Amino acid sequence: MSEAIVPVIYGQPANGVVRITLNRPERKNAQDVALLYGLDAAFQQAAKDAQVKVIILDAAGDTFSSGHDLKGDSGKRPEDFPLVGMWADFGAPGQEGMMAREWEIYLGFCERWRSIPKPTIAQVQGKCIAGGLMLAWVCDLIVAGDSTQFQDPVVAFGMCGSEFFMHPFELGTRRAKDWLFTSDWLSAEEARQIGMVSRVFADGKLSEETQKLAERIALKPGFALKMAKEAINQSQDACGRRTAMLQSFSIHQLCHSHWRNIYGIPVDPSGLPESLRAGIYDYFAGLGKRT
Ligand code: ZN
Repeated sequence: MSEAIVPVIYGQPANGVVRITLNRPERKNAQDVALLYGLDAAFQQAAKDAQVKVIILDAAGDTFSSGHDLKGDSGKRPEDFPLVGMWADFGAPGQEGMMAREWEIYLGFCERWRSIPKPTIAQVQGKCIAGGLMLAWVCDLIVAGDSTQFQDPVVAFGMCGSEFFMHPFELGTRRAKDWLFTSDWLSAEEARQIGMVSRVFADGKLSEETQKLAERIALKPGFALKMAKEAINQSQDACGRRTAMLQSFSIHQLCHSHWRNIYGIPVDPSGLPESLRAGIYDYFAGLGKRT
């Protein structure tokens, strides 16, 4: 039996592997605060669970994740959950409250999940868009079905990229610029060739092959897996990743402030898809209120 942590499912560990499933298929696994805090709780549970040596992050439905949920937070706010980081007062005026919120639920969560001391594998199917990329990038391995596609279209609505700005580290600087400037789709095979995806499997075998890979890794000594992960993550951080992330986060906040000055909301509404444009003012007005 699986234990539901709505809207994230924590599976039954077997052979040293647990599956954590994003479970908002009706919203294409768009990230509202309940999903993000649910995911944090599930990752914490896996980190503490002695039966778990390897964690698979997968997703229900045909889309891994369509990004942040710009249609709303399903009636919940970050204030409704215990604070995980130290940035708070999410309803403070100007850009202050939003910056705190984005520290807590995006940059802070992603940095924390990247440091889980057990191997993590993102099993990505369908589409993975904008903020959805952050959930894949925090994992140690990314495996994808052969029809999977990745896209970051946020430049179209005035942003430099997402809050967890791994683009240059995942794609290389020139390819990252091309991808952001054009909003073009990146196929699973292209992503594998540039090193963002580690393996591509046939769509129909994605789950089975990912499970086999995870179980093979789980046979290795847990301490060595943990140390191998630490050695590689610390090498990347020694090359400046952490400093670059903090600088990119500040630039991201500058973008939000710029659009707030012009339109009163922190993105350029003219570049948003038609389906989001009408409700976006209400969404951001709701974020700015103190409870
Ligand atoms: Zn943002």
